[in-house]
Amino acid sequence: MVDLREQMGSLWKQLAPELQEILLSGQFVRGPQLEAFEEEVATHLGVAHAIGVASGTDALHLALRATEIGTGDEVITTPFTFAGTAEAICHTGAHPRFVDIDPATYNLDPNRVEEAITPRTRAILPVHLFGQPVDMAGLGAIATDYGLEIIEDCAHSFGARRNHWATGAWGRAGAFSFFPTKNLGGAGDGGLITTHDTTLATRLQRMRNHGSNRSSIIHEERGFNSRLDEIQAVILRAKLRHIRAYNEGRRRVAAAYRRYLASTPVTLPEEVIEGSHVYHQFVIQVGNRDEVQAALQAEGIASAAYYTVPLHHQPAFAEFGQGGACPVTERIAQHALALPIYPELDKERVEQVASVVAQTARP
Ligand SMILES: *Cc1c(COP(=O)(O)O)cnc(C)c1O
Repeated sequence: MVDLREQMGSLWKQLAPELQEILLSGQFVRGPQLEAFEEEVATHLGVAHAIGVASGTDALHLALRATEIGTGDEVITTPFTFAGTAEAICHTGAHPRFVDIDPATYNLDPNRVEEAITPRTRAILPVHLFGQPVDMAGLGAIATDYGLEIIEDCAHSFGARRNHWATGAWGRAGAFSFFPTKNLGGAGDGGLITTHDTTLATRLQRMRNHGSNRSSIIHEERGFNSRLDEIQAVILRAKLRHIRAYNEGRRRVAAAYRRYLASTPVTLPEEVIEGSHVYHQFVIQVGNRDEVQAALQAEGIASAAYYTVPLHHQPAFAEFGQGGACPVTERIAQHALALPIYPELDKERVEQVASVVAQTARP
């Protein structure tokens, strides 16, 4: 699906001495690389504050906690996402309330959100799935009307913009993952919280560090050990300088798939606003998903069926399933297939993948 070697190979000359310096300095956590990265990434995304943490799941969890969401609360989210989204909600003590998706975008359907709001609802947690930004103006209006917080799951959407705003700059907080396969990926786990809110940022800086400020011996609250280390920070700084080009590369691959698959039975992903999608995944729908996947496999081509078992059907979250009434999610989960995509994927390979899909796909 993804070949990470090329990106690291092209950055290696620059990174080798920087990595050496960190390794020989002995300063591995809470150092100058993280501080510099946080400043650079905040500027890049157009937010006041960026707080590095240990993973994307931690970023969601800490953002929810810092917003005082916990036991007795409900958080509206999508069932068509990675488990980490709902885990973060559950770890605060709150309950996820799964709302069905929009078939055109695969994202939480803003038109179904209002009917899911109860007196316990405290927040909406949209996921900018596969790199397509959610209609945040629409969700924002609902959140304002009902006094709800918005925490964005930006694990798939680093660099995606809608109406000039980056994902992660709309809600009370945004949560990013730097898992190696994400659009901006480290060499291990990592995550980031973005916010415009200075009070929230100060709280989060404390929460990730056992509830203590950097230079203090006082633990103001019971916090967590969730930090982004210096090695990850220096790698992410180097990749951040190229993220626009990386996302352009993904968009080029997506455009090529569109050309090759235009007059086939394949349902192509919609790009709601031209230029806004950063294609963390290129997800098509076909009538015979398993057959297409097997045909690709036979040619040595990887593909992935995200998310075959949506969260409201997962044992871990079944108690929040509300009888499983998310028919759009259930239908799409049977037909969705993610094709290989990454910035360096070459034209010949894209054509080869597309030709196998075109030959086997049924409506
Ligand atoms: C990857 C991912 C996360 C969690 O990120 P980790 O860094 O792996 O903890 C959360 N939500 C979505 C949609 C993801 O794909």
